[in-house]
Amino acid sequence: MPMTQSFSELSLSPKIARAVAEMGYESMTPIQAQAIPVVLEGKDVMGAAQTGTGKTAAFSLPLLQRLLKHENPSTSPARHPVRALVLLPTRELADQVAQQVKLYAKYTDLRSAVVFGGMDMKPQTLELKKGVEVLVATPGRLLDHIEAKNCVLNQVEYVVLDEADRMLDIGFLPDLQRILSHLPKTRTTLLFSATFSPEIKRLAGSYLQNPVTIEVARSNATASTVEQHFYRVEDDDKRLALKQILTERGVKQAFVFVNSKLGCARLARSLEREGLVTTALHGDKSQDERLKALEAFKSGSVDLLVCTDVAARGLDIKDVPAVFNFDIPFNAEDYVHRIGRTGRAGASGLAVSFVGGRDAKMIADLEKLIAKKIEIEPFELAAERRAPSGRFNDGQRAWRDPSTAQFAPSRAPRAAKAHADPLFDKPYEPSVSNGTPTWEATPAPSARNGLSPNIKPRKKVAALFKVAEPTQVASGETEGA
Ligand code: AMP
Repeated sequence: MPMTQSFSELSLSPKIARAVAEMGYESMTPIQAQAIPVVLEGKDVMGAAQTGTGKTAAFSLPLLQRLLKHENPSTSPARHPVRALVLLPTRELADQVAQQVKLYAKYTDLRSAVVFGGMDMKPQTLELKKGVEVLVATPGRLLDHIEAKNCVLNQVEYVVLDEADRMLDIGFLPDLQRILSHLPKTRTTLLFSATFSPEIKRLAGSYLQNPVTIEVARSNATASTVEQHFYRVEDDDKRLALKQILTERGVKQAFVFVNSKLGCARLARSLEREGLVTTALHGDKSQDERLKALEAFKSGSVDLLVCTDVAARGLDIKDVPAVFNFDIPFNAEDYVHRIGRTGRAGASGLAVSFVGGRDAKMIADLEKLIAKKIEIEPFELAAERRAPSGRFNDGQRAWRDPSTAQFAPSRAPRAAKAHADPLFDKPYEPSVSNGTPTWEATPAPSARNGLSPNIKPRKKVAALFKVAEPTQVASGETEGA
């Protein structure tokens, strides 16, 4: 099938084409080239595409185009019923998508709005009551509005289930089923998901009609622009290895993934002590803290974001120079998600994974998933790191002053100390959660400036992110309970 590559080859209305031109997009991304013509024909789509592939424009541009027939400048709410519903798992994603939709629709009379949990319902209600053609929402809050009769969905023509795999992961299936039961049977349904798991296929089987399947890249493929290294590094050396690679490669900012909340908080604290401006993001951080940490990282005032898989989901950070797998993920698919943060849109990225002695099974799982043999390279810790001047290492990883060495125990016995941080008493956080993530259910009070209390913002680091994303301000929060 010949593929349209330039937006000008699509028969988009000049109003929409103008907004696209203003975004500075030169050509369509693969998902856009494949999905836009299909959606313009009104067909259902089942798309395998992750955030960062341009999928928001892939569904919103043709939707807006098809909704133009309803466009009108009337102030009467009745003239602006909801025609398209876009559902997303988190507030951040909903907010990002809504902002993009607004930009694409800015020269039309089509109205759009976003509703998500954790916020006062009143302003959302007022907006809904005025009438909107495109409603972007998280499932729980949308149901609240449906129940409060703030929106009528009997004229919906298009439904987008975006990040459908995450919606199922979070446990939104019953909510989705209830919402879909309120919609007209005759409609176009678009489903996007990073993977086509059996659950996603079942969902598609129930709600899509003869969908066109679009896969832009194998869902388990890792981008060829990412330089991937697997180094043999045992637990106690990982921190030094991380610092060494950051210095040697001149990496200014990175995501560092760990498998547990406990490991996350500990690592962030110890890196912070070593002078790296670091923020920990794990499931116990409040939404406010997450957003502030995210903004600090984007602005370049934080060097390292140490995070767990659950906390990193839905974070709108598109192009991190490097990703470290401080721990190999238990779930091989998380590896693909993690390193998908770097090397986006043709930029080169670095993904470094530390492989310890107990990781053989996880590496084998990963090899199966990415269908590639993984070469584990030895890692040489720099000599000066092993023996800083004036001190020596006795081979037992305790740096000692020569004058006191013979009296010091090789490891100082640790005083049993009660942790001030309640995190240390929390159970292990699995990488894939079936229930509502903690940060969705119980927002904790926010810390000083939204950053971890451990962290003193000390230095500014130039942001390394592309500036081509003027709309990407994650101002929302993930859906509240
Ligand atoms: P998404 O996958 O929809 O989250 O989009 C990721 C980013 O790519 C967003 O910041 C979009 O503004 C941007 N984008 C979408 N389409 C294009 C395109 N054709 N060319 C360049 N950037 C794009």
